Amino acid sequence: MDKIVSLCRRRGFVFPSSEIYGGLGSTYDYGHYGVLMKNHIRSLWLRAMVQERDDIVAIDSAIILNPAVWEASGHVAGFSDPLIDCRTCKLRFRADRLEDAQCGRKPSKRPGEFSECDLTEPRQFNLMFETQVGAMEDGSSKAYLRPETAQGIFINFKNVSQLARRKPPFGIAQVGKSFRNEITPGNFLFRVREFEQMEMEFFVPPAEAEQWYRYWIEQRYSWYTGLGIRESMLRVREHDESERSHYSSGTSDIEYQYPIGWQELEGVANRGDYDLTQHTKASGTKLEFVGQEGDRYTPYVIEPAVSIERIFVAMLCEAYDEEVVGERERTVMHLHPLVAPVKAAVLPLVPRDEGMSSRARALFEELRRRHTVEHDDSGQIGRRYRRQDEIGTPWAFTIDDQTLEDETVTVRDRDSLSQERLPISGVAAWLDDALQREWRSPKT
Ligand code: ATP
Repeated sequence: MDKIVSLCRRRGFVFPSSEIYGGLGSTYDYGHYGVLMKNHIRSLWLRAMVQERDDIVAIDSAIILNPAVWEASGHVAGFSDPLIDCRTCKLRFRADRLEDAQCGRKPSKRPGEFSECDLTEPRQFNLMFETQVGAMEDGSSKAYLRPETAQGIFINFKNVSQLARRKPPFGIAQVGKSFRNEITPGNFLFRVREFEQMEMEFFVPPAEAEQWYRYWIEQRYSWYTGLGIRESMLRVREHDESERSHYSSGTSDIEYQYPIGWQELEGVANRGDYDLTQHTKASGTKLEFVGQEGDRYTPYVIEPAVSIERIFVAMLCEAYDEEVVGERERTVMHLHPLVAPVKAAVLPLVPRDEGMSSRARALFEELRRRHTVEHDDSGQIGRRYRRQDEIGTPWAFTIDDQTLEDETVTVRDRDSLSQERLPISGVAAWLDDALQREWRSPKT
């Protein structure tokens, strides 16, 4: 993980936040390439979830909702983790994750393993961030930053099912920031307090819930393998009854083998009719499906939920490689071309050469209308290739002497390092086509 963090910083993907003020623990800002890569992940998710389907629509609900939403959903009473303090080293730990925690003392051991450790009994710590709405600072103005995007979907069930004229099975998808005051954030972006969730609530007739639950586990798993994650690095782990929320009749984690071990990348849950029933009871508005013949029922909900951050880290870990090529070492990010921040680089071999420079600039301007591409004319060509390898750019188009003779360019492939020549006029179509091709990780 340290190598990934250092590459992210060196190449401007992600920086520690508020750095000039000493930072703020486990908070990060995204630089240019990080923003581009996040945008690609978000749009690939929306494409699979909304654009390419007939049965899912999008929503963007508010971050600060009426606090009654969180009472009804059970978050005010129960969205908590068990917290343990150590009176000796003053550190805090999650009681259910002690096996992954480290005591503040050296040599590193788990909390409770030194004779001096003095741990408190676990107590419940609510993870919701509180805030005030309006100028009054009394209890009546208390509100919360949402800890998940899902509730903003449930409370809009009636609006969407009526206005979008949908009947189950159908889904509502949302992408947006969620906030959790995690007791032990860490492992880079894996557990942060502010993250961008992508959740989809799929409403189904109760009798079909199990079938749709299995369907969504399969769909989401394939989404990852389709984006180049190796099957050997992914697994589905079904929760046993003791791990599930009381309302869930099935929860599975799609886990990725992060450098910190197998961990939840995405969760898929069968939430039953719990959420719609709770909001119906608390708001007095019936959140149910009413058919043409007056038949009515409360749909069950299947929810795939993930954060961009967990995908971002998994993709970076999956891509990172160090290789020796022609006796030189290179660090390369084998990112799926659709995820890579920059799709192609345009490189004039001799930047001072007017013929090369003008052709490179014209090609760059043509390509950037359709894709995120980069023009780089500084430094030796080898250094420029290495730089693109480190940010995971799948292809580089080099304008050289031969271009001036026959109007062709060299295309260099990041993974195989093969080079071929293409007519400069065909590069845009070639790139469109290359981005549609199936891609497999060269890593074994
Ligand atoms: P955990 O047990 O790891 O705290 P959770 O089971 O509470 O996670 P969910 O409530 O199921 O997580 O959240 C759905 C998804 O949101 C997770 O699968 C994960 O991708 C993402 N997620 C949750 N918490 C965080 C966080 N603190 N930082 C980044 N992503 C998160």
